[in-house]
Amino acid sequence: MAERRTDVPLRVVEISVAAISKNLQRVREMTGGSVIAIVKANAYGHGATLVAQAAVAAGADMLGVVDVNEALALRDAGVSAPILCWLHSPRTDFREPVAQGIHLGVSSVEQLDRVALAAEALETQALVQLKVDTGLRRGGAAPDDWADLFQRAARLVQAGTINIMGLFSHLANASPEADRKQAAAFDAAADALANAGVSVPIRHLAASAAILASPHLHYNAARVGLAMYGLSPIDLQPAADFGLSPALTFKSEIVATRQVEAGASVGYGHIFTSPEATTLALVPVGYADGVPRSLSGAGMTVMIRGEHYPLVGRVSMDQIVVDLGANTKALGPGDEVVLFGDPATGARSADDWARVAETISYEIVTGIGPRVQRIAVDPVQHAESLSQHEEREQRNA
Ligand SMILES: *Cc1c(COP(=O)(O)O)cnc(C)c1O
Repeated sequence: MAERRTDVPLRVVEISVAAISKNLQRVREMTGGSVIAIVKANAYGHGATLVAQAAVAAGADMLGVVDVNEALALRDAGVSAPILCWLHSPRTDFREPVAQGIHLGVSSVEQLDRVALAAEALETQALVQLKVDTGLRRGGAAPDDWADLFQRAARLVQAGTINIMGLFSHLANASPEADRKQAAAFDAAADALANAGVSVPIRHLAASAAILASPHLHYNAARVGLAMYGLSPIDLQPAADFGLSPALTFKSEIVATRQVEAGASVGYGHIFTSPEATTLALVPVGYADGVPRSLSGAGMTVMIRGEHYPLVGRVSMDQIVVDLGANTKALGPGDEVVLFGDPATGARSADDWARVAETISYEIVTGIGPRVQRIAVDPVQHAESLSQHEEREQRNA
């Protein structure tokens, strides 16, 4: 969504490029193989182009998105790194992605034939990664269909129509035993593909959970989503335990305050009544921006100038109300409000929100809405640009 540059952003997510870079470095240390940085769903709400560029700069070997539209949007934004996408409609037109060198995750003979037709029409080779179902039972070729798929792939490789760039599958994260069964099935698929005469450069099964917890599932590539953003998919094991830092800080500001008497009720439905006279602050961010309505009345706090204050009343579409109490710090319009970010800074975390909203951090960050401006911040770059600024000032003096 285009931002009006003349307007002051009322809500921002600041993305630490340094955190993304550090997190990817950690993942590379853990897995030792190729790193496929997953930037689907607007990079989990962080901003697809921004994160794609940061990930590539940090050494990601490939980017991953769900569909062709997301892949082509990255190409349009100038991202030239390899991109994999794997969820297609029966109506998906593969010509443009083939022409743009997108790696197409293919789950069926029917898809493979359509990709091959697109490549023939363009007189080029399509880049294909075969996706097999090893037990998640969503996408991917079912085991009964592997033989047909692999034989067709072998024929198209021989014909020079396609290049098989990878073999992959996705885990259900049901249990260590279930993971092991999926890995055994994945190995069987790799053997069957080799027996069909097709060699594959990369094989990948692990996403964040297995990257962090199951080294035996790393193969020679891994798809990293949540961990790159500095969040942990594993209950009771916060990201910091793995040396990861959240990249995202969700911020807004106080736009107005008002004094109310004891007994004043606040917001839709008057679900909160102040027991005493207090100061209320209005913050222009609501459920349309990704503040779950289920935080209403749940005692969630926000951080303002390093101190925590509770949300009161209902979260509405565009606004929340924060109780400043006696307002001893004289907080007022323009003061920054940190909704969540890196808990190491004292802020609430995406995990805190997820716990209260009875969901997972994935849903919290992907729920951040289009009105929220995504801004890259990097303390190092910022310091450099300040010193560069000073140099220029001196030259101009
Ligand atoms: C979203 C997704 C990932 C990334 O998962 P994380 O748990 O965020 O690392 C990897 N692979 C596939 C197929 C996905 O859909």
